[in-house]
Amino acid sequence: MPSSHSYTLSPIGIIHSCYKEKFGIPRQPGLVTEATARLELIAPYNRLDTLDGLSDFSHIWIQFIFHANQREDWKAKVRPPRLGGQKKMGVFATRATHRPNPIGLSVVKMGRIYKEDARVFIDLHGADLLDGTPVLDIKPYLPYADNISEAKGGFAHTKSSTHKVQFSATAKLQCERYETENKKSIISLIEQVIAQDPRPSYLSDQIDREHGIRLWDINVKWCARSDHFEILEIEHTTEIEI
Ligand code: SAH
Repeated sequence: MPSSHSYTLSPIGIIHSCYKEKFGIPRQPGLVTEATARLELIAPYNRLDTLDGLSDFSHIWIQFIFHANQREDWKAKVRPPRLGGQKKMGVFATRATHRPNPIGLSVVKMGRIYKEDARVFIDLHGADLLDGTPVLDIKPYLPYADNISEAKGGFAHTKSSTHKVQFSATAKLQCERYETENKKSIISLIEQVIAQDPRPSYLSDQIDREHGIRLWDINVKWCARSDHFEILEIEHTTEIEI
């Protein structure tokens, strides 16, 4: 039964991110340090004075809506990818995207805070957020309160290990050309994203099967080999940066 207390929340911002689809986004922030995004404040919050003092902090907490969830339902027990899809945990013991209130929480490194015409932006590094994600709130990360050195991390105490990534000769040339033409680095982003092994657990024993992941305006084609991942080629998409 839904609670009789309900609250209306509306976004204060929106994310512009290199991640153009859910597949490939790392499972937490900070894992793919090369991922760049920016948070744009939306009216009436698009004023620099709402951020006065924030540039003295290095990291922020971002609360956001999992707006791209395909279903609205949630289950009391879910299968965290971390446990290979083999074991169920209580939804509130996980960071699952399908939860009674589809609200996400990420701690993210900040870059520049700036205004472009009437638009106000915060540059972000290492975010785990899909392009277009609505942001509910921003709060500064407080090291004295938020950094708990003796904290226990349950079934996800440490980072998953990463995998070796190799570029085919074709992919290497295509990426180098992309970097020169667009003055934008892409090779290390691709490497870090694929090194996380983004495959769902039910596909994790499949070798040589082709996958595609969209980053910025490219589609990265890659597959798992027996002891590494191979980037096969990249293709331009018509994605327009919003
Ligand atoms: N750090 C957050 C997110 C963890 S889940 C938290 O703990 O709440 C991470 C997954 O969220 C990613 O793999 C990505 O696929 C998914 N995701 C990111 N932005 C999303 C969005 N706007 N809608 C739905 N899913 C999203």
